[in-house]
Parts: sequence; structure tokens; C-alpha cells
Amino acid sequence: MADMKIVFLGTSAAIPTQKRGLSSIVVKRAGELLIFDVGEGMQKNFLQAKLGINKKMKVFITHLHIDHCLGLLGFFQTMSLLGRTKKIDIYGESRLREFIDENFRIINIGLSFEITIHVIDKEGIIANEDDYQISCCRADHSVPAYSYCIKEHPRPGIFNIEKATELCIPKGDLYRRLQNGEDVIVGGKLIKSNEIVGSKRKGRKIGISGDTRPSLKLRNFFDSCDTLIFESTYIHDYQKKAIETFHSTSVEAALLAKESNSGKLILTHFSSRYNDPKILLDEARTIHDDVDLAEDMKTFYIPYTE
Ligand SMILES: [Zn+2]
Repeated sequence: MADMKIVFLGTSAAIPTQKRGLSSIVVKRAGELLIFDVGEGMQKNFLQAKLGINKKMKVFITHLHIDHCLGLLGFFQTMSLLGRTKKIDIYGESRLREFIDENFRIINIGLSFEITIHVIDKEGIIANEDDYQISCCRADHSVPAYSYCIKEHPRPGIFNIEKATELCIPKGDLYRRLQNGEDVIVGGKLIKSNEIVGSKRKGRKIGISGDTRPSLKLRNFFDSCDTLIFESTYIHDYQKKAIETFHSTSVEAALLAKESNSGKLILTHFSSRYNDPKILLDEARTIHDDVDLAEDMKTFYIPYTE
């Protein structure tokens, strides 16, 4: 069992508003922080959300537009001043390394922790952990940009304690081995794991679009997401503007969520022209049943579906 929650730290497109900061999303999973974009000023909400400055952390940059990456410098420096010691893995397109190295050189930032920059040069799996993986797909934006998916590996099935007790299996190590799919011998008798443990249960899949036009490629990439976070810069009357600027309307985000068989759609990255983004929500809900609006500091808990 791994707890999972999504905390939005910044939900505005291009420029901040009085209520919304620049793009940043944190997925906290089993104590690890997976951060998608670090818009300028996100560190204030990061501290306020009490997410922890010394947690295991990976940072993913969707693209190198200023409102999505400029917060990295201050965020790293703040964690350093607060005594972070754990290494951070950071992922992004090839110029990310140059962006970080050059800025750190010019400003002469010394950090209390190591950073490892992983340059993404192709689509596919970019991080593989024991119980989940992260993959990327090219987005359709005005500069090289990536969308990301967090996908958990299937979880072991449900352990039938009643049956295990009936078969006089001692608790402890044998339970653990059976749960892990191993067959065991008890009192000279072979007991198969699948007699005691049910079939594997689906892990969760979370998609994060970054800035993009909707595309067939992304529709496939986000297939059957439990939660899909998709940019929703404009209402549908501004579709022409969305096409020109390589962004999406909330209707387009909802269509993609529906066509990819995704569950909950969370809209974010709202143009500053919408003081109240409810208009974007209302339009999206005409297409897809389960839609919510992100707002700064709003948390969504992501339960298992099985
Ligand atoms: Zn943006």
C-alpha cells in the first residue's frame, strides 16, 4: 500500500495572478516527492504545504519556458539553506543541463546536496523503481516539451488469512513468501501461492500533460489513466488562440480524457484572463463526467481502484 496525493503548488499559465502561482505539481507517493515543473515562486507554497525538504525527490521539467523552470534555482537554494542532504534526480530535455550548469556557475550556487541531471533524448521509460515507473512522451508545444506518466506496477493480490489458518500455515516469513508469489511447503505439503493469494491488483496511473495541444499520440500515452492532469489554458471560444500558442482548451482536455478512457480529469494551467476558472470546468463537464479544477494548495487524494 502506498499513499498517494497530488498537491498543486501553481496553476496559472504564463503570468501569476493574485490567487495563482506559476506551474508546479507535486505527487507525493509513499513519502517520495515527484515534482512536475518548478515555476518561479513555487517554493513558498512548497514550504507552506509542509511537503518536507529532505524527502526522496525527483523533479521533472516539461519544457524550458520561463514560467515552468525558473523556480528551480531558488527552490534548490532554499532546500540547501534548510539543510537538505538527499540527492535529487532531475529530468528534462537536453538544454536543461546547460540551463542548470550555466546558472549555477554564474550565480555561484553551492548546494548541500547532489543533483543528477537526466537528459531525456527519447520517449519511453525514464525512471524505474521497485513498484512504479515514469515514462515520457513528446508533447505538441512551441518548444521541445514532454508529458509524463506515473504508472505503478501491479500490487500483490488479497491474502486469504482464513484459508492460511485452515491450512495451519505459520504466520511470518511463510506468509510473506506466499504473498510474493512463492509456493511453500508446510508439514511436507506443497502450498501454492495462488491458493492463498488472489490475482494481482492494478496499480494507479497518473498522467501529467505539461503545455501541449491535444494529440493522438498523447491520447494513446494517457490510455486508462486513473487521474489525468491536463492543461486547460482557454475556453473553447479561444480555440484559434490555443492552436496558435500550442495550448489546449478545457473542451479539448475533456475530449482527450474521454477518448483515452481516463478517470478523473483535473484541469490546470489557466490563462490569467479567467479570474474564476469555473467557466473552463463547466465547458469540460459537458464532455467528460469526472472533472475537477486545480487551485493553488489544493490536494487530491488518489485511492486504488482495485
Ligand atoms: Zn505554460
